[in-house]
Amino acid sequence: MSATYAPELLHGLVERAGRADFPAFEAQLRSTGGCARRVRLRGTIETCDGHGHKRVWSTDSQPDGVLLKACGNRREAVCPPCAERYRGDAYQLIVSGLRGGKGLPGSVAEHPAIFATLTVPSFGPVHTRVPGSDGTSRRCRPRRDDPICPHGRRLSCGAIHDEGDPVLGDPLCPGCFDHHAAATWNNSLGALWRYTTIAIPRARRAASG
Ligand SMILES: [Zn+2]
Ligand SMILES: [Zn+2]
Ligand SMILES: [Zn+2]
Repeated sequence: MSATYAPELLHGLVERAGRADFPAFEAQLRSTGGCARRVRLRGTIETCDGHGHKRVWSTDSQPDGVLLKACGNRREAVCPPCAERYRGDAYQLIVSGLRGGKGLPGSVAEHPAIFATLTVPSFGPVHTRVPGSDGTSRRCRPRRDDPICPHGRRLSCGAIHDEGDPVLGDPLCPGCFDHHAAATWNNSLGALWRYTTIAIPRARRAASG
């Protein structure tokens, strides 16, 4: 197998390999698991211990001043390595919940199993695939009144997106999408999940009397 690289890319690689921060860069690349759409994060983390000692970690200390994270997308068409990892992780999680393993005792196999569907709140309209009752896909977001948002973008989409369409999941208008709420929701996910795991068994006990 042979590959042709653009001269700029080759030059960039050679230049990068000679730099002192190359091991750190390579470690970041490895930790993203071959993600095809790495997210470049820039910022600082401040932690304070109980004695008032503050510690600051900054991406300034990282190669190029950024921290690389895997995109974590579940769709094969968007990022094959992340989608594959998600599939594997989801399988292991479900299997260990049903028959034990991965730190869970085998006795969980005798527990009742609930397959609950939890729906994430909407933070704004996004391009989507709408399944029709006959198995075919419907149009993304058809609107007869063809509304225009304050940013001048159409809040409708008449396309029938196929599975590999890269716009799937993208907001119809990035300006209208509530990024703040989305970030807050994602940041609170741990606590939300904790309360969910308390509420579901309670509801089940109440239902079974
Ligand atoms: Zn990825
Ligand atoms: Zn669309
Ligand atoms: Zn808008």
